[in-house]
Formats: sequence, structure tokens, C-alpha cells
Amino acid sequence: MTYQNFSLKQLQDIDAAHHLHPFTDHKDLRDAGARIITHAQGPFVYDTEGNEILDGMAGLWCVNIGYGRDELADVAYAQMKELPYYNSFFRCSTPSPVLLAQKLAEIAPKNVNQVFYGSSGSEANDTALRLVRHYWALEGKPQKNRIISRKWAYHGSTIAGTSLGGMEAMHGQLHGAVPNIAHVMPPYAFELKEKGESDHDFGLRAARAVEDAILEAGPENVAAFIGEPAMGAGGVKVPPESYWPEIDRICKKHDVLLMLDEVITGYGRTGEWFAAQRLGLEPDTITTAKALTSGYQPLSALLVGDRIAATLVEKGGEFYHGYTYSGHPVACAVALRNLEIIEREGLIERVREDTGPYFAEALEERLAGHGIVGETRSFGLMGAIEIVSHKDTRKRFDGGGAAAVAVRDHAIAEGMMMRAVGNTMILSPPLIWTRETIDMACDRIVRALDKAE
Ligand code: PLP
Repeated sequence: MTYQNFSLKQLQDIDAAHHLHPFTDHKDLRDAGARIITHAQGPFVYDTEGNEILDGMAGLWCVNIGYGRDELADVAYAQMKELPYYNSFFRCSTPSPVLLAQKLAEIAPKNVNQVFYGSSGSEANDTALRLVRHYWALEGKPQKNRIISRKWAYHGSTIAGTSLGGMEAMHGQLHGAVPNIAHVMPPYAFELKEKGESDHDFGLRAARAVEDAILEAGPENVAAFIGEPAMGAGGVKVPPESYWPEIDRICKKHDVLLMLDEVITGYGRTGEWFAAQRLGLEPDTITTAKALTSGYQPLSALLVGDRIAATLVEKGGEFYHGYTYSGHPVACAVALRNLEIIEREGLIERVREDTGPYFAEALEERLAGHGIVGETRSFGLMGAIEIVSHKDTRKRFDGGGAAAVAVRDHAIAEGMMMRAVGNTMILSPPLIWTRETIDMACDRIVRALDKAE
């Protein structure tokens, strides 16, 4: 792509004139101008000014194998030459989605053996919502269609994704949500745990909020519970260990399906292929996207459990749902090679046995003691740093999330990309990070925190 003939200012002006960005205040963008990233290699991204920035977010939780993998470009090129596109509607298929589906069935929890493709996590959650409700209708229980979700959940930004999610600001702009979705308290101990309450008890209390919602609606009216294993975009809120086993028990007790949204946690981030395996869960649906291709191509896969798939196949009748790019041959070929690289390089074992524990320790030992840090937490290679003005009382800075935004901007100046969500800094590094990269990140984050203090 030839952009070299354009100055940064020119690119920014064209951007502001013609490009509406996701999740952006466009007045602010017009005034400040976008940072324009031009290329990337390994764990680093580079901007038009030649700044090298350590990418602590793996793009947007997706570039798990790092940047600059020629192999994936070669696979995409070869697939484009052979067959750039054909659909998988009307009893057609192409080889790469077929072989990818087989691979996904092999690495998924053992009750999960079918795949429905889309291009994004939001699309996959649309599919999940429709599929779950369709399942109960096929089972002769069309009234069993209420979904229980959580406040602060993020499940995408289509109308269904926003409705499933629990972001207040997004709901405020929805102007007509998908009906019959309830949002209960999330397992966010840092803010919601009561004085004297143990993490264990808090986890059980948060799970019981789900049961209360099921009982309030009547279990005969509740289709499913949906949750991210650890809330990502909501601020890497990692539930206490007691939470998921209790949710599992509650869902089974009331015959409520379990939908896991693993758009962030899928494909190795937590030290297993899926967090479901780390948590010992056998969900009825698992939403995945992002790291399925390490972001090299847009692709999502809704992994569907045997219970739903069996009904769909045995009862028959068309499921009136799908996307032009469901099972896109190029994206699926890239995904297959991406999964091969993750396996070949032992990236999941590395997170489980080495970098995951080291990351947790580094956050705790290097950052948690800082004067404006209230807590650090992590789940595999995703992490959070809570920004506070008073460590002992956990009081936040005035100005909403302004302090966290300041930390983010100082961090970028120090060569470190993090995100600010409310009062929380979040990290989601590529799985190729080593202990040395984690040390480098901590050095830069400490300097950013010092500047913001
Ligand atoms: N679900 C979760 C848990 C996510 O984090 C995201 C995106 O960050 C989505 C769904 C939506 O995915 P997409 O942005 O690909 O539509």
C-alpha cells in the first residue's frame, strides 16, 4: 500500500473528512487526529512517525501469533488464486471451511462438534442468539426464549450483540433492543464485593444473581445464560474460582443452556485452546472470532454443542440464517494455518506453564504496589490494572476515566500500547510474548504510571 507520498497531516485530514471510526467521538477525532499505524513486526507496531510501540493489546485482542507472518500471507495468496470465494449455501461447500470445522471439533470441548461461520464476533453472537431460540422452538418450547446476561458484558455491537451485552452507554443509543434479555450483576469483586465477604462467597453470590433471574422469569421461560469466561472489554473482570462451577450447576438444574462468549479467550489466551477447558465447562455454544485467524482475516466460528446440533439435524427444516461470507475459503485457509502455528510453536503450553504465571506475578510484584494502582488481576495473558487516587480506600480519581486515559497516553509515549476502560487499564498481549517482553512492558507501564501520579 503506497501511503509514503502522504504526510501524517494529509492522512489525518483525509481520515477526518471521510472515515467514520468505530467507538469514536468524531469531534474529538477531528480535533486531535488519528494515530496512523503503518506496519508491524513480531510484537511491535509502527506509526507514520516511525515510533516503535509494544502492542500490549494484540491489535484488538486478536493478533495472537504476532505480526509479520509471511506464512499466512502465502496461504491467503494461494487460496485466492485457486478459489477466492464460493458460498456454502444451497448444499455447496469448499474444502477449507470443511477442514477447519474438523480441526475445531478436534480442539473444542468434547461435547462440541459443529461449527457455524461468520465474519465477526458480533455476527457469531447474532447466530448464537437465533440458534438457541430456534433450538427451544424445535423442542416444542418456543416460550423458553429469555436470555440471562450480565451488566458490563460485551457481546458485540450489532443490535443483537448490543442487546446481549450489558454496556449502559451502548444501550442508551440502542433505541429498540432485542426483547427478553435480562442483565444481572457481574462477578466484579473489586467494586462489588462487600466488606468482610470472601472472594469465594462473592463468587457464589454473583452466580446466585443468575439463579434469581431464572427463578423470577420461571425456568420454563429461560433459554440460556451467556457470559464471557472473564469479561474482556468490560475491564478484564476475572470472576472468583467459585463462580463458574456454580453457574454450571445452576444452568443444569434449571435446564438452561450455557453460552460462552470466547471471542477474546478462545485459541490459547488462557493457556488452553478454550477457557471452557480451563474452567471444566461443556457449553452448548462457544462464540469465537479474533484469534481464530490471529486477525489476519475476518472470521468467526460459533461452535455448537451436540445437544443443539442433534436437534437441528434430527428435526430438520431450514434454519433461515447465514451470511454471504459464512465459511469464506480464504479466511478459513488462513485460520487453519494460524492454528497450526499456535500448535507448532507450543504457544498455548507457553501461556499455561510459563508466560501466564510470569505475567500474573509481574503485574502483582511490579505494578500492584504503585501509588495509583488499586489492584492488578489476570487470566492467562489478559490483565487489568485498576487506577485509583487513594490506594487504601480505593477511591477513584475525579473526572470519570480521565486518569486512565492519561496513563494510556503516557504509556504510548513510552512505547507501550494499552487500553483504558473506565478506570481500568487493560492488557491482552500476543501469545508470542516472552518473559523479557513482559519485563519490557512493565518497565514502560511503571514509567507511565509515575507520570500520571
Ligand atoms: N464478544 C466479545 C467477548 C468481544 O470481546 C467482542 C469484541 O471485542 C465481540 C463479541 C464482538 O466481536 P466483533 O468486534 O468481531 O464483532
